[in-house]
Amino acid sequence: MKKLTASEISPSFSKELQADSEAKNFTRQANHAHYSFANTVIPTNPQWVHLSTSFLEDYKLEVGDKEKLLKIVSGAEKFNDFDSYAMCYGGHQFGHWAGQLGDGRAINIAELNVNGKNLTFQLKGSGPTPYSRRADGFAVLRSSIREYLCSEAMHHLGVPTTRALSLVTTGDSVTRDMLYDGNPKDELGAIVCRVSESFIRFGSFEIFTSRGEKKELKQLVDYTIKHHFSELGEPSKPTYLKFFKEVVNRTKDLMIHWQRVGFVHGVMNTDNLSILGQTIDYGPYGWLENYDRNWTPNTTDLQHKRYRFGKQPNIALWNLTQLANALYPLIEEVEPLQEILQEYKRDYTLGFHKMMCKKLGLFVQEEVVVEFIDQLEDNLEHSQIDMTIFFRELSSDATLDFKLFWNILKRSSYLSVDELKKQQAHWKMWFENYSSLIEKENIEKAARSSKMKAINPKYVLRNYMAQLAIDAAEQGDNSLVEELYTLLLQPYAEQPAMEKWYAKRPDWAMNKVGCSMLSCSS
Ligand code: AMP
Ligand code: MG
Repeated sequence: MKKLTASEISPSFSKELQADSEAKNFTRQANHAHYSFANTVIPTNPQWVHLSTSFLEDYKLEVGDKEKLLKIVSGAEKFNDFDSYAMCYGGHQFGHWAGQLGDGRAINIAELNVNGKNLTFQLKGSGPTPYSRRADGFAVLRSSIREYLCSEAMHHLGVPTTRALSLVTTGDSVTRDMLYDGNPKDELGAIVCRVSESFIRFGSFEIFTSRGEKKELKQLVDYTIKHHFSELGEPSKPTYLKFFKEVVNRTKDLMIHWQRVGFVHGVMNTDNLSILGQTIDYGPYGWLENYDRNWTPNTTDLQHKRYRFGKQPNIALWNLTQLANALYPLIEEVEPLQEILQEYKRDYTLGFHKMMCKKLGLFVQEEVVVEFIDQLEDNLEHSQIDMTIFFRELSSDATLDFKLFWNILKRSSYLSVDELKKQQAHWKMWFENYSSLIEKENIEKAARSSKMKAINPKYVLRNYMAQLAIDAAEQGDNSLVEELYTLLLQPYAEQPAMEKWYAKRPDWAMNKVGCSMLSCSS
């Protein structure tokens, strides 16, 4: 075991790439720069909310001096002599090119070699940077709890994601108009220390192409390949294509994971897509409760629902197309890029159906039956079935008896029994197909059940659960943050003492702010 604070500094991004020539911290366009140096704001009274022991265990780290660590993860002290910096990127927001965005409230405080792995530690909410535009660079407790809990939960669900090491309050207040309705309020300031091998986004490449800065584009692509995709070979046109193909594949796999667990990101702008294929930037995300492909938690997107659950895989493709445009100056051929994008469509559809079959306990299906899955999705939607409960119950009891299956539907539907009965004929039809497919599975019931349970989580961070933890923490009680953190370390396990979290959304949460609707204000 090694102390985190004793890890060796090993800067590569800030050493090998181009720093902004301006060193002062004011809002500006940072031309020809991959990043700008920026210092964190010293917080008035930093306090622990939570520390991810699971992160520390995964990297064989021990806390060491907790007071010292608190100073570092709250921005009160530098990590040794590391020159902290904010990254430059651009992005397409809601389908439109938005120009330079960059880390407006994130500062990389260390790049460390942690037991052989290079990790970047980033504070989210520790003050303004040259990319803050008109905003303040800070973050509030409610959105920080949401990011902290969800990124760790996603990791334990097996979904690629940035990690979170810690969550602290700063002791300073931050003013936010949560609903954008002209009622700003002072809220508690907080900081999450996020960790990833890299925080490079699609928008990191787009900014250079949009500015015609080909040299900086090439530097970034070569850097990314060297440090994160080295198995693809030395930089060259064929390697750039392989790199693009790999990013497309990882993004496709990520989309299949999101659809598997019912995660809706909410703001899939190109600045919020990681080049590593990780889930990044937890804002107004949400978890699907009743299966509704049109659902988005993001109130800012209610009109067009661009980022709704069912559209996520298409939006990923749209974003990948923007990435292809950004890489084009280094490849200068359209066809191979287009071919790769075409393959995404085919591979995603295949992968999605395979994944859905597995959720249903159909493991030996040679031919994926597209209509069968479509019908299931329609039925789930019309019957307002809770996605997590339905698949989990099916895992315990993948039955060939319609009566038992009907009980599962009753247990997981948000409709009244009378309303649900109107859907019975549709379910009967679907169930007939299902039971004939299940019969072909040459696998023992118990073995199938445990395989199904390994991909159908029992516990996810339902929207209202995060809100309960927030309400308590805002009153100074962090015990629910701890309870949910612990619960979500083992989302696939039976946890009898935690059974109360395996339940449909309570009625009171239906239209409560934070439970089903969220704004971008954070
Ligand atoms: P998001 O959609 O939250 O990922 O943010 C989009 C852009 O706005 C990024 O450049 C962020 O750094 C920036 N941003 C969001 N919130 C703040 C804030 N409170 N202060 C400064 N910049 C922010
Ligand atoms: Mg972002």
